[in-house]
Amino acid sequence: MAFTTKTFYSLEDLTSHLRLHQPSFYYSSQTSTVIPYDKLNSLLPWPLDQDYFLCDLSKLPNHMEVKENGNLLLRGAVSWEEAKKFLRSKGRTLKTSPTEQLALITAGIATSCTGERCFGFGTMRSQVVSLKYLNFNGEENELKREDDFKTTSPFLAPYQNDFKTYKTFKNAPYPRFEKATDLMIGTEGQMGIVSEVEIETVENYPVTYVFMLLPRWEETLEAHMEIYHAVQSHRDVIMSCELLDSNCMNYLKPDEKLGDNQDVIFLEVKSDRFEDIYGDVLCNLKHVSPEAVFEIAENKFHHVRAGVPRAIFEENSKMGVVKVGTDCQVVAEKFPELLKFYREASKIGVRYCLFGHFGDAHLHYNYMPTKDETAKCLDMIQALYNKVYEWKGSPFAEHGIGLIKQKYIKKFHGPNQLGLFHDLKKEHDPYNQFFPQGFMGQII
Ligand SMILES: Cc1cc2nc3c(=O)[nH]c(=O)nc-3n(C[C@H](O)[C@H](O)[C@H](O)COP(=O)(O)OP(=O)(O)OC[C@H]3O[C@@H](n4cnc5c(N)ncnc54)[C@H](O)[C@@H]3O)c2cc1C
Repeated sequence: MAFTTKTFYSLEDLTSHLRLHQPSFYYSSQTSTVIPYDKLNSLLPWPLDQDYFLCDLSKLPNHMEVKENGNLLLRGAVSWEEAKKFLRSKGRTLKTSPTEQLALITAGIATSCTGERCFGFGTMRSQVVSLKYLNFNGEENELKREDDFKTTSPFLAPYQNDFKTYKTFKNAPYPRFEKATDLMIGTEGQMGIVSEVEIETVENYPVTYVFMLLPRWEETLEAHMEIYHAVQSHRDVIMSCELLDSNCMNYLKPDEKLGDNQDVIFLEVKSDRFEDIYGDVLCNLKHVSPEAVFEIAENKFHHVRAGVPRAIFEENSKMGVVKVGTDCQVVAEKFPELLKFYREASKIGVRYCLFGHFGDAHLHYNYMPTKDETAKCLDMIQALYNKVYEWKGSPFAEHGIGLIKQKYIKKFHGPNQLGLFHDLKKEHDPYNQFFPQGFMGQII
């Protein structure tokens, strides 16, 4: 048994490697929070009788162009940050992108990533018009959104029927498999390598960012829930609605901190409609005074918003613990219950913070445990997943399953899901060369 790291500088090199049919894990920017990259050697169960490859796709040559219809066509290693910069030079921008802008777009297809602007523009996976991928023989195939998902597996129909329960979520506990493009979306590199993407964009119109200071969610939920309900019918004007709780401020530098032991909710609003939102929505809130609403520069918002999860990520690595955090989305009726659960979770005596995509009832609750405290945090997280299962919520709405979440997802996968995963693996990965330890390789 041995593992080898390979970096690909051309598609030809990658194609040659694929033709060897060797078990491999392909990665891009390594920002996934569900793949513990620093512990990969010890955590990936290596196939005992074969060599195993860790394959870096982040150096593949890239290309971007804006098509006549305004869609962005990209190939190779393009980050969300590079794509935004390129698009802005053409007067356009992306609809939805993850908070971590250094991640690659092709990888974002694999993780079915979402982000702040999902509130206004819906999911990234629905914005993918077409894509190309390299299959197990290194051949490049194209998939189009306008085509239905096809397979000979008898499990597809019952799988799609089960999926209806989760249709409204950003990502369900299992991939959508409705459109042809879904073969690569959310399958975490287990069906092939995404090489090209055509994705919808929008005009880069001016936006205004504001934040509101609120009492801590641990003490009262009135103001939070009032804002949550107030923004729902304005998704055409409000593009994002994000939360950083008071505990998150401990991860920012003193001059970056907002509020005084208060929670913060941010809104991204189309500038030409800001007056309407201010007058009709913000000034009518009973639990938030207009004096507690402040404008913030776009770059400062992004810096602060991305700074918190990055700092948590780094702190967990420093402490030598695997991230103990959540990625749950629930329906509106269950949102207060989710928040109340987190309130109970906050009482076990371990440092924590709460942040995320508040307007979509999709939050990341993170513990920052020492090694000794990890077990009790994991018990609490398991209890949460049991609840999310009962509530018919989505346990992992954007960060995926990777390696870290596999034990928790098992409960959500029944015979229809496992049957289809098995058949798709056989059809598209006959040599089991794509991330054999992924969730689709679960034993039936
Ligand atoms: C601070 C921070 C904030 C984040 N915010 C968000 C957020 O708002 N929304 C969100 O969705 N995620 C978020 N994430 C998670 C992460 O950024 C996303 O999952 C992202 O899509 C991963 O991209 P990557 O290039 O780092 O992929 P990697 O971590 O390198 O790989 C992730 C997965 O994709 C597969 N993969 C990579 N490239 C390809 C390819 N070309 N073809 C097929 N499979 C491939 C890998 O095998 C692996 O399973 C955040 C992470 C951090 C650290």
